[in-house]
Amino acid sequence: MANEEKPKIKLAVYWGAACGGCCVSVLDVHESLFTVVEHADLVFWPIALDFKYADVEAMPDGHIDVTLFNGAVRNSENEHMAKLLRQKTKVLVAYGSCAHMGGIPGLANFTTKEEIFNRAYVTSESTVNPDKVFPRPEYEVPEGKLEIPVFYNDVRSLGQVVNVDYYLPGCPPQTERLVEVFMAIVTGAELPPPGSVVGALEKTQCDECKRKKSDNKKIKQFYRPWQIEDDGETCFLEQGVICMGPATRGGCGVRCIEGNAPCRGCYGPPVNAPDPGSKMMSAIATMIDSDDPGEIQKIVGTIDDPAGIFYRFSLPGSILRRKMT
Ligand code: SF4
Ligand code: SF4
Repeated sequence: MANEEKPKIKLAVYWGAACGGCCVSVLDVHESLFTVVEHADLVFWPIALDFKYADVEAMPDGHIDVTLFNGAVRNSENEHMAKLLRQKTKVLVAYGSCAHMGGIPGLANFTTKEEIFNRAYVTSESTVNPDKVFPRPEYEVPEGKLEIPVFYNDVRSLGQVVNVDYYLPGCPPQTERLVEVFMAIVTGAELPPPGSVVGALEKTQCDECKRKKSDNKKIKQFYRPWQIEDDGETCFLEQGVICMGPATRGGCGVRCIEGNAPCRGCYGPPVNAPDPGSKMMSAIATMIDSDDPGEIQKIVGTIDDPAGIFYRFSLPGSILRRKMT
């Protein structure tokens, strides 16, 4: 009897508030692309193929087997597409740091919509806008009404807008992890319960890192990476350079550290320490070389932009979510 060919899965890729890096990482699968194409038909991927939103709206609910949604939710268009793709998709994957926890666009939660508009449309050096004209979501012209998406005050992760089946972290995720997770879905392999992080480890970057660590190294000052001569062997934190390893899941193959750059936390926090900022504060507290409150404050003050470093990829998804205004 001839082998019955397994039907291909229907795959969609979409970007919300994103830089494009996640979409490029999907292309980065190189020869594995043939494996993907062998098992999947792309039914929607605006960056690469000419599909319209109306094509998705016309699909029956649950028509798409897997959607890789990258990017955060920053405006009404992102939110509309998140909800639409949720409705049309069986397995919705938050792909990359921005969809996972808000990512780099989520740093905008340290400010407000008003401050961003004022900087972009009034005070930026290249702008001349004496009448302070700002973008309007709706604008009447003789030919009819023009509409642009509504810019929200808060950036949200995908999981803060719709139910997500799996989170595949990374900025962007490592391509090998994408292929592994994709093949697991295609072959029906056992996957963790919906809502889980996949393609990453439970342990931290420090558990995977080969740099030398001592038990009791104390720090008198913190440095930016360019301010020290890295010896290439010793733990960055022990050299006084902030490395997010203790507060970040492993799974990327410690790529940044292998390239002599400290971890910046794009794989998100490990299960037992869900808030990267508090985990880093506790890791750093054990290393400060002083018992004097004034001196401790001075040493901590040498960390440049602590909130921006500790929550670089995770502010909307953290317990802080945003700066209070
Ligand atoms: S996770 Fe990184 S690569 Fe992906 S869209 Fe966000 S900023 Fe770009
Ligand atoms: S803090 Fe960074 S450099 Fe140090 S062990 Fe952890 S991952 Fe490696």
